[in-house]
Amino acid sequence: MRIFNFSAGPAVLPTAVLEQARDELLDWHGCGMSIMEMSHRGKDFTGVIEEAQADLRDLMGIPSNYKVLFLQGGATQLFAQIPMNLLAGRSADYVVTGSWSKKAYKEAQRIGSVRLAGTTESGKFTCVPAAAELQFDPQAAYAHICTNETIHGVEMFELPEVPAGVPLVADMSSHILSRPMDVSRYGLIYAGAQKNIGPAGLVIVIVREDLLGRALPSTPSVMDFSVMAEHGSMLNTPPTFGIYLAGLIFKHLKAQGGLAAVETANIAKARLVYDAIESSGGFYRNPVEQGCRSRMNVPFTLENPALDGDFLVEAAARRLAGLKGHKSVGGMRASIYNAMSLEGVTALVELMQDFAARKA
Ligand code: PMP
Repeated sequence: MRIFNFSAGPAVLPTAVLEQARDELLDWHGCGMSIMEMSHRGKDFTGVIEEAQADLRDLMGIPSNYKVLFLQGGATQLFAQIPMNLLAGRSADYVVTGSWSKKAYKEAQRIGSVRLAGTTESGKFTCVPAAAELQFDPQAAYAHICTNETIHGVEMFELPEVPAGVPLVADMSSHILSRPMDVSRYGLIYAGAQKNIGPAGLVIVIVREDLLGRALPSTPSVMDFSVMAEHGSMLNTPPTFGIYLAGLIFKHLKAQGGLAAVETANIAKARLVYDAIESSGGFYRNPVEQGCRSRMNVPFTLENPALDGDFLVEAAARRLAGLKGHKSVGGMRASIYNAMSLEGVTALVELMQDFAARKA
């Protein structure tokens, strides 16, 4: 019996995909070994990575002048790797809208010159900055944003206007594949796999070709996007099992009707949770402004924090797990990624309503 897993990541994956991986685990497609046991250079695995890339391109509508890299690591590593690859002796602009973009901004300072283009920290990261609050350097090497702040539950539905010629670089770790995105508006998109894509250890980079070839001379080869692109992500051994599983997820999303259909389901799920918060008469609260509430991560507090423990105990009794909020903001957080079913969200909403009716 599987639980309903609301963890922020590593997070729930579709049961059908896990079942397929289980069925293929010992003997992948009749070759007598696991995908984990085979050479990444053999034709079987080469087929897997090529198919994964083709399916991701298809799902996201990635234009042909973008490279897709499947790399070892995670988004934190990219916080350093991006300035190594893109700064090229210039300065980069950072928009800070929550804990993750703040970490990206801090880490980039270790590599080179960075500027704060705007931040919503004084308002405790409960909104995205208005255009007037952002000042971009027209000479910036790139402008970095986090399009979904996993801890604060703030999602960007509109992109900031950056000066012409300044590429937008986006950390999409916690909402990639949750809805259609216009890839052509970005210079680079990156996302750790462990929310909407697959197991931790894999990070995906989608980069416009003209941004390659700018790495600082000291950049190690495995960190250099151009070297990785030249070698089809296989300068070194890539995270083969993660890429295989990501490929199964991409096929699963295509079978569901692609990202437009996924978005429709995600809107419905998010609405249920936010409605439960809004209709609770203040028993539950979400501090984020209406227009930028994340469809993937819904943080909420109980009016009386002394009831937090009881709420989590009752959740566990109903097989709802991973609801404790991040330690920096407290309260609860329901991460409702693509693979969280409507059934799971409904079970959460029933708990919220029932708990409030008894404890209010
Ligand atoms: N960016 C965002 C938006 C995240 O949610 C996370 C992880 N929760 C990270 C970066 C860091 O990812 P990792 O721990 O894989 O480096």
